Amino acid sequence: MSLNAAYSKEIKQEYEQIRFRNRQLQNARIEEIHLQIPRIAELDGEIRDINIDSALSALHDEPVDKEELIARTHALIQEKYDLLTKAGYPEDYLAPIYTCKQCLDTGYIQNEPCECLKEKQARLQYQHSNLGQNLSDESFETFQIQYYSSSPDGIHKLSPRENIENVYAALHQYMIGIKDYFQGDTKQKGNILFQGSTGVGKTFLSNCLANELLKEGYYVFYISAGNLFERLSDVTMNKYQIPGSQDVYYAVENCDFLFIDDLGTEFTNSFTISKLYDLINGRQLKKKATIISTNLSFKELQEHYSERISSRIVDSYYIYNIYGKDIRRAKRGL
Ligand SMILES: [Zn+2]
Repeated sequence: MSLNAAYSKEIKQEYEQIRFRNRQLQNARIEEIHLQIPRIAELDGEIRDINIDSALSALHDEPVDKEELIARTHALIQEKYDLLTKAGYPEDYLAPIYTCKQCLDTGYIQNEPCECLKEKQARLQYQHSNLGQNLSDESFETFQIQYYSSSPDGIHKLSPRENIENVYAALHQYMIGIKDYFQGDTKQKGNILFQGSTGVGKTFLSNCLANELLKEGYYVFYISAGNLFERLSDVTMNKYQIPGSQDVYYAVENCDFLFIDDLGTEFTNSFTISKLYDLINGRQLKKKATIISTNLSFKELQEHYSERISSRIVDSYYIYNIYGKDIRRAKRGL
């Protein structure tokens, strides 16, 4: 998936800055050498004059002895190199400077993105995702299934372990099918609701998924429900009192994947209810994906928000119910 326009602009500016800094550095070197070795300043002047003369001749269709010009230029350049190396400088000390010699700081090699561009994109995507740096190592590979009991809990048909294995497999399928979803395959859903009580691993699963999607180059944005509604209300009410609230607004409108953590823990009022509906509905219409995690049961979700929200979720979300013991407590040996 192509990068978001805002990212492209930011990256373009980054390359412009790199090129600008490198040009400044080159100019500083030229100045330094011209002061130290005045003969090189003369040589540079002569080389420049030859270039101007030949350009003018070409412009006026005047016959020129090209070979003679090239030979003269080469001799001047050679003299310059000799002077430079004699003074202890490398031959290319005055040549243009490139941070990336592969793409000459353009980001592209014959229209294909250079490795340096891919690195910049990945870094920016991570910065913009709102995911803490410490979450970057949470992945499906580090998922610890042993914290889920393989004995049935007496409530659900499947044991917590069987259930989480199913969810895990479904998320792998989701990752495979997501490209098709964005390409309009109506058999695929883009949205997910993770349901379950505190500590059963909903946030961990969300983080794993977010990291996978970031690696695939998607525009991911992660936010807790409380923060989300505070910032949306800040912008909607034209207050702009919370730093970064416009960025959140932008991300919610534009990101490929919006992760809303802990829905139901925010302060709910008529604003949050209508905003949540607009958000779920709007993103669905725009074929964007939303991943929600919540402690609320389905009945609670309906009571807390509205029937039109819960029915929209039933229609267009994959719903995964996660259960088992509190993993955070289990990890501490409680
Ligand atoms: Zn490059």
